[in-house]
Amino acid sequence: MAASPTYDVCVIGAGIVGSSTARYLSCRGKRTLLLEQFLLPHWRGSSHGQTRVSHGSYTEQLYTKMFAEAQEVWKEIEELAKEELLVKNVGMLNVEGGTSEKLKGIINSLMSSVFLSDKLKDKYPELHFSTDYTAVLEQAAGILKADKCLRALQAQFVKFGGTLQDNENVVRIHPGTPVCIETNNNVFTAQNVIVTAGPWTNKLLKPLGLQLPLKFGSAGETFSKDMCMEVDPDLRDAGNDRELVEIHVQKARSYLKDHFPQIDHHELAIIEKCIYTTTPDHDFVLDKHPSFPNIVIGAGFSGHGFKLSPVCGKILAQLAMGEKSSYDLSSFKIARFTNSGKLKASL
Ligand SMILES: Cc1cc2nc3c(=O)[nH]c(=O)nc-3n(C[C@H](O)[C@H](O)[C@H](O)COP(=O)(O)OP(=O)(O)OC[C@H]3O[C@@H](n4cnc5c(N)ncnc54)[C@H](O)[C@@H]3O)c2cc1C
Repeated sequence: MAASPTYDVCVIGAGIVGSSTARYLSCRGKRTLLLEQFLLPHWRGSSHGQTRVSHGSYTEQLYTKMFAEAQEVWKEIEELAKEELLVKNVGMLNVEGGTSEKLKGIINSLMSSVFLSDKLKDKYPELHFSTDYTAVLEQAAGILKADKCLRALQAQFVKFGGTLQDNENVVRIHPGTPVCIETNNNVFTAQNVIVTAGPWTNKLLKPLGLQLPLKFGSAGETFSKDMCMEVDPDLRDAGNDRELVEIHVQKARSYLKDHFPQIDHHELAIIEKCIYTTTPDHDFVLDKHPSFPNIVIGAGFSGHGFKLSPVCGKILAQLAMGEKSSYDLSSFKIARFTNSGKLKASL
């Protein structure tokens, strides 16, 4: 098998995070290889589908700062793509039962929200929520056209000089300088590797002596995290979860019936599967491998990584290039799991 030239960086996984990372690198003149196990486009990870919400409703300043920068980068990507990717000012209503501490935190961190409290019923008579629910409207929230975003990032990566190869399943990463990346078809070498493999992350990290405390859940049309079913990403469509799917569909129907009575809850139009990868604290993993500093890992985007992917990609690229980030990365470090006893590392 002929060896290809050594790249500055090889990014493994062309979901939204890997594609953002690769675009950032090639835009800065780095010889970058982006490998994807499936033929593109595909629907088997976490980044497919038509839409993702783009909102700044965070209680942590770290994420609100990342959100503000992400908005700027999406604008840049959109301008280059010459098509609308982010539909702005759609508005998002956060509704929560019981105590509203989380919502109060969100209000404090947002410029454009309206606290509706018990006025929810007057403002939105078509919604049915009892008086112990509170709500915040984030007027500036928008919608990202997910499939188009992914296509635009990959097209721009190639335009900037990057090499995108799909149908390349990485079967083993051999650490070293350079790192050797073995796929089902080829052997590649790169000075640095960035693993952005979504739900497959732990499969790739196992031979490198690291298992992150990630949970992989398949979610149906009801995107609620507590309704996720844990799943092996390679067996997502094996069909042995029909009963569970039916339970989730029923829950979605009754939620619609209770709170959105004007929507027909009898038949859900589309039931689409997608995999969430979550960390125990719902913060991302953006860090170097503890034993191999030229292997960087981006994982656990916990249901909120799409809108922030341009910034996550920048941080991952900077880690690989040895540049200082403008963010405090302590919340994203792998060591936080060691301290809480949740890390399985054998090296
Ligand atoms: C239902 C749902 C709704 C969501 N809604 C929102 C939202 O509204 N707003 C928001 O910001 N976020 C949202 N998210 C979260 C967001 O979509 C994810 O955080 C994000 O898509 C994660 O991207 P990723 O690149 O890490 O993973 P993935 O998209 O899974 O990409 C990983 C890629 O790596 C490839 N790969 C894996 N192993 C290998 C290998 N060995 N060799 C080569 N390639 C490999 C995979 O095939 C895949 O293409 C949502 C997620 C879900 C599931």
